[in-house]
Amino acid sequence: MGVTVRSSESGPGIVGRLAPSPTGGLHLGHARSFLIAWLMARGAGGRVILRVEDIDASRVRPGMAELAMLDLRWLGLDWDEGPDVGGPSGPYVQSARLDRFEDALGLLKRQELVYPCTCTRAEIQRAASAPHAGEEGPIYPGTCSGRSARDESRLRGRRFAWRFRVGTGMVGWDDLFKGPIRSDPARVAGDFVVGRSDGAPSYQLAVVVDDAGMGVNQVVRGDDLVSSTPRQLLLYRAFGFEPPQFGHVPLVLGPDGRRLAKRDDAIKLSTLRGLGVDPARLIGTLGRTIGLGEGEPARPSDWVGLFDPASLPAGAPVLDPAAW
Ligand SMILES: [Zn+2]
Repeated sequence: MGVTVRSSESGPGIVGRLAPSPTGGLHLGHARSFLIAWLMARGAGGRVILRVEDIDASRVRPGMAELAMLDLRWLGLDWDEGPDVGGPSGPYVQSARLDRFEDALGLLKRQELVYPCTCTRAEIQRAASAPHAGEEGPIYPGTCSGRSARDESRLRGRRFAWRFRVGTGMVGWDDLFKGPIRSDPARVAGDFVVGRSDGAPSYQLAVVVDDAGMGVNQVVRGDDLVSSTPRQLLLYRAFGFEPPQFGHVPLVLGPDGRRLAKRDDAIKLSTLRGLGVDPARLIGTLGRTIGLGEGEPARPSDWVGLFDPASLPAGAPVLDPAAW
């Protein structure tokens, strides 16, 4: 299959990544998570890969990938491999890697780890027992789990998604920021979609295939993805890939106590850049929320080797865009 793990050639060093989705412009919350991911990799003397996660075609907006890279460079973050600089693991845009996801799905089919699911959203909603709804909607009730991957040929003309069999048992990891976490994938989402009915890979499949294929061994990201990690660990196991270190950082809240959202233009990096905000002031403010400095202007490169994961506050930081 076309999915390979770079290990010997990339050596034992840390390989981190920044993986923006070009769906609506990066904001202060993204900046903080990316700053931490960058400092973790650079602090270990490691490499940084930039990958554009654009497989959700319905949400992707033109020009946003370029804007995200502009925003990140404006902040002072850089990368060794990416769409604009190339590298040995390209292409670095997910929509150009569909053959790899197809190969990976094929491997899961041959292992009978996936089955075709013809359920509609409404059917799953009705069949799932309401009290056990997972964080991401109802837990899949297993309606189609009696099918084999080979039943695909008998479903001609019907729309179906490919679901991964999660089986039973706890999955755990030692989170770089949150310590040991254990979770039962069957109680989070149940059998989950790896291949969507429109033919696109799911986020869960694409992120695992790409991180493994690019030799990423340290994944630092927002803690809204904690519930996805057990599913991704199951995929690592199914493919025989060594999982990366995972670290999940709390998402930034606005003054109203709600998560910053892409719809809020006031907190977008491109807006702040357009207003002439000094990125060093922004980095200084973000630094204070991660245990670096007292808010004085700074560049990310000033802090390489100084960020201590243990000093990251466990709670979600509050940032007021009005302060800018
Ligand atoms: Zn089904």
